[in-house]
Amino acid sequence: MRDKDLVVNIGSDSKKYALYEGTERRFFAHFEKEAEAFIVTFQTGDSKEKRMLSEKDYENALAGVLEEIKRSGAAAAPEREIRAVGFRVVAPGSFFQKHRLVDSEFVKRLKSERGLAPLHAEPMLAELGRLDKLLPKIPVIAVSDSAFHAAMPPVASVYAIPHAIAEKFEIRRFGYHGISFSSVVRKVKATLGTMPSRVIMCHLGNGASVTAVKDGQSVDTSMGFTPLEGLVMGTRSGDIDPGALIELAKRLKLSPDKLESFLYHECGLLGVSGESNDIRDLLKLEKEGDSRAALALDLFAYRIKKYIGAYAAALNGFDLVTFSGGIGERSFAMRERVMRGLDGLGLALDQSKNNAAESVDAFINQESSKDIAVIVTDEMGEIAAIAATFLKVQP
Ligand code: ADP
Repeated sequence: MRDKDLVVNIGSDSKKYALYEGTERRFFAHFEKEAEAFIVTFQTGDSKEKRMLSEKDYENALAGVLEEIKRSGAAAAPEREIRAVGFRVVAPGSFFQKHRLVDSEFVKRLKSERGLAPLHAEPMLAELGRLDKLLPKIPVIAVSDSAFHAAMPPVASVYAIPHAIAEKFEIRRFGYHGISFSSVVRKVKATLGTMPSRVIMCHLGNGASVTAVKDGQSVDTSMGFTPLEGLVMGTRSGDIDPGALIELAKRLKLSPDKLESFLYHECGLLGVSGESNDIRDLLKLEKEGDSRAALALDLFAYRIKKYIGAYAAALNGFDLVTFSGGIGERSFAMRERVMRGLDGLGLALDQSKNNAAESVDAFINQESSKDIAVIVTDEMGEIAAIAATFLKVQP
């Protein structure tokens, strides 16, 4: 009986898979590249198992996942029990700003996108090929990471470049992390029974962005045409003067592809510190007196502060600030750093609540402060929910 959905989330340095039966997660696998090593963590029910992998196993993660799903009993015959695949898509363009069924047109568009953003399109295309081979005829639903931002007003989505050129090449702000923000909206609604009118959401992981949410809808977000704009990230620069990019391309003789790779992989926390893109390493280095690590952390926090201020203005005030993502959910030290000196905006952390909140949903503000909450994002569950809704509407 086809009553299970597979969720596939391919990142630049990780792959996540989950099997859902309704809203119940039966199986989860997280494949990661760590320094030179490849690791997978399988989770079924309460049991967790970590294994080292070869690069080939990492590439063929899907085959390993289907084997493990069978072995664990989560599904005895995945090819007969899986109803649909929910597949996270990160790509610029209005075509990719809608959840849709993957068909030949979709693949064609993604291939033409490859020239534009090879870093993202390439691994997605490879995985779609593997899905076609290993789970043929099972519908794949492309769940857009930008759809949540589709209704942003033109003042937030338009770049100040000539209109005809912007239209012709679709150069505008699409925003990303939409699946995560949509999951946070769902959880806030479920917890409070209502959605506060003006919310500033910070998704802080290796990739990071802030979104201004009005009555449950995105009205502005810090990522733009690509996931490069906005905050300082693990290895991405975030906002930078376009004039500085022109100068860099000239000085370092960088082609557009090389410049793209530079901005995605060599900048951000890693570039500034010269040491690491991981907040944990940088906090440790800072304690040992490393001033570049300290500067990287300060830049990271300061940029978030600036966006909180900007979105407080865009929303004409705010009722709640949320923290999600690996850093937002787990690092009390970085939440503290972001919130330090924001009492002028009515924000004050409760130190003991903040220190205690790790990977749990919790309010962490003082009584006199506006609400500040840690909300554990559930991107995989959100993809499953969006795919299930899509199937109901377009079976
Ligand atoms: P991605 O954007 O790749 O999905 P995550 O949301 O999983 O990333 O966040 C990964 C980042 O979270 C790591 O690079 C690290 O900087 C940070 N992180 C994870 N755990 C902790 C922790 N306990 N304290 C501080 N930072 C953490």
